[in-house]
Amino acid sequence: MDLAGKASIRENYEQVLEQISRSARRAGRDASEVKLVVVTKGHPLEVVQEAVEAGARCFGENYAEEGAAKIGALGRAGELEWHMIGHIQSRKARIVCEHFDFVHSLDSWKLAERLDRFAAETGKALPVLLECNMSGEASKFGWRAWDEENWPALETDFARILELANLEVRGLMTMAPFFFEPESARPYFRNLRRLRNQLVRRLPGGNWNELSMGMSGDYEVAIQEGATMVRIGTAILGARQIAIVKNELGGSG
Ligand SMILES: *Cc1c(COP(=O)(O)O)cnc(C)c1O
Repeated sequence: MDLAGKASIRENYEQVLEQISRSARRAGRDASEVKLVVVTKGHPLEVVQEAVEAGARCFGENYAEEGAAKIGALGRAGELEWHMIGHIQSRKARIVCEHFDFVHSLDSWKLAERLDRFAAETGKALPVLLECNMSGEASKFGWRAWDEENWPALETDFARILELANLEVRGLMTMAPFFFEPESARPYFRNLRRLRNQLVRRLPGGNWNELSMGMSGDYEVAIQEGATMVRIGTAILGARQIAIVKNELGGSG
């Protein structure tokens, strides 16, 4: 932590892995049930490369073009895995399908149809998570899941998505509101798990195994509540340089 550069990313990465194991064990879970997605948005290639050298293999990006540029430079086949975790504008659906291995942020029927169409063209099924807005915050994307009375309506939408031949639904994703006290995020994670458990019963034909929840500030709580994927940027890579990267790439998202 006290050293700049490589040593510090490596140290942070190892500390986060340890903390993931510890949180899992405390929750009576196995560390292998929790996948770490290192969030590289807003960081230049050199930083991603340092994370690769530290042992990271699974990365998350928020913007289609920024991600595609990094994927083009670093490659993916058999080695690195790239997850799209940010809101996807419809016109970026093709880029996402062509470059990314996994989508956490499927948040509308329209986007589902487009991703399905482009996935068909690229000849591969695309694994997706359905992003749920559990807080009702207007700044957040996702299916309207903060009010339980709306859950039956979600089931109708999700059932249609399950029928798309080129998308493979794997579970749900959410972002809790920001709190200084991580414990405050717990009800949002718990509700996502409750919604998932209800979907297991109501739409048993689907695969609802994955719960993508937890970021730098709240991943320990998320793991206690059943997260199978945590998306962590700052705690491993430090502060982002979004403006620089966006300029280099001519803007994105
Ligand atoms: C940026 C981002 C993260 C990572 O946030 P940190 O606080 O840097 O760990 C995780 N998930 C999503 C959807 C993000 O946009």
